Amino acid sequence: MITIFSIRFRIAAWYFLSAAPILIALAVGSWIAMRASMYQGIDEELFRKSLGVEQYFQARGDNAIPELQKELTNGPELPLGGGLFQIYDAQGKLLFESPAIARHNLRIAPRLMPGEKPVYRDSAPSGTRVRLGARGIQINQSIFTIQVAEPLRSFDESLTDFGQLLCISIPVLLLLLAAAGFWLSGRAMSPVEQINREARAIGADNLTARLSVPKPRDELQTLSLTLNAMLERIELSVNRLTQFTADASHELRAPLTLIQTAAEYTLRRERTQEELLDALRKILRETNRTSALVDRLLELARADSGTNQLRLTSIDLTSLLNEIAVSAKPLARKKHIKFKAQLQPNPIYILGEDASLRELFVILVDNAIKYTPKMGTVTLKLSQEPTFAVIELIDTGIGIAQENLPHIFDRFWRADKVRSREIGGTGLGLSIAKWIAEQCNGSITVTSTLEVGSNFTVHLPLINSK
Ligand code: ADP
Repeated sequence: MITIFSIRFRIAAWYFLSAAPILIALAVGSWIAMRASMYQGIDEELFRKSLGVEQYFQARGDNAIPELQKELTNGPELPLGGGLFQIYDAQGKLLFESPAIARHNLRIAPRLMPGEKPVYRDSAPSGTRVRLGARGIQINQSIFTIQVAEPLRSFDESLTDFGQLLCISIPVLLLLLAAAGFWLSGRAMSPVEQINREARAIGADNLTARLSVPKPRDELQTLSLTLNAMLERIELSVNRLTQFTADASHELRAPLTLIQTAAEYTLRRERTQEELLDALRKILRETNRTSALVDRLLELARADSGTNQLRLTSIDLTSLLNEIAVSAKPLARKKHIKFKAQLQPNPIYILGEDASLRELFVILVDNAIKYTPKMGTVTLKLSQEPTFAVIELIDTGIGIAQENLPHIFDRFWRADKVRSREIGGTGLGLSIAKWIAEQCNGSITVTSTLEVGSNFTVHLPLINSK
């Protein structure tokens, strides 16, 4: 639809507005140039005529004036000087004027000396515009001023005609230009309409659809490619979201079913105190697990929405990891696992958020203890590289198969779902750990060998290490 806000209309208006001053300036300029060149032509003609009068005087010498008078009385009109000329003496007295010029009742010519620059001017004493040219000449010892004249009627008419031509052709030209702009922009914008139509047809139900890309390598092709790339990203995140919701519901359903089954089974008949307590313990265990899962889901949802940005402050990793090691030792001991902490004596400062960093290392330590059998060893190491603090969690546990390593940080991914659930895993720990490390401008990597053990390494940039 074309409105006054449409790009087509605006381009046409811009064509019109930007061409208008240029064309008007061109028209005024050419009118002035035309006028100047016509004046130049007339002045040259006047000079030529004054030369004719001068030659007449040179040929006749002192008899020139009387002869002129005589010729005038005999002949009808003189061809001399185009019939329009006057002769003044050195004192500015009119010696002679042709009858045709007498009708114009002209003012006296300026007194000019021979060799002086001729003087040209417009005059219209009797209403008819004429151009006058005056020149000083010397004949024998006497000095005269010759004044010749040329009517300006046809000159004025030509100039008016030319002006009228410009006044009509400039607006017509401007309208043609605007129309051309309108047409050209219409052609250029036609792919936009197509992009519009196709984009309108894309919704949540057909996110796989893409816009067709125009062939010419222009801005519209770039726009279509950009929009397609955006659709790709939207599709990906919608798919991820759908997958996440499906996985989350699935994960929540299992403990809820267990709780429901336990309650229903217990209520089926009279139970002893011991049986009731057993059922309640089972229900409580599942409730705890569900609540941990919901906490993690919430945490991930906030991370995804971007509202859970960490407030980074300076943190001393040495003392934080010392505290983690202290609380990990009893857990490891309970499972008959040896826990070794190889930390630095000096503080190591990084930018992070205390609670989140604790969560990250608790996830890694928990996993290491969870997936390491009795008599194994878990080592927590802290070392320093030129620009990074390096934290390693090395265990002698069950390890992770090479083909599973790329999935280890995916949400809900677990090498062994049943086993992980049995030991209280949600499949979300490592994805949260990765998110925290990245929020602190760091990274987390893993190397592992099945039945040998795993090594999780966290790199966090040291403060002032840039
Ligand atoms: P979970 O709650 O199941 O432990 P995580 O996201 O923390 O979830 O870990 C994902 C999966 O990665 C685990 O289920 C387990 O299969 C594997 N994994 C994590 N840490 C270790 C480890 N130290 N040794 C062996 N496997 C591990």
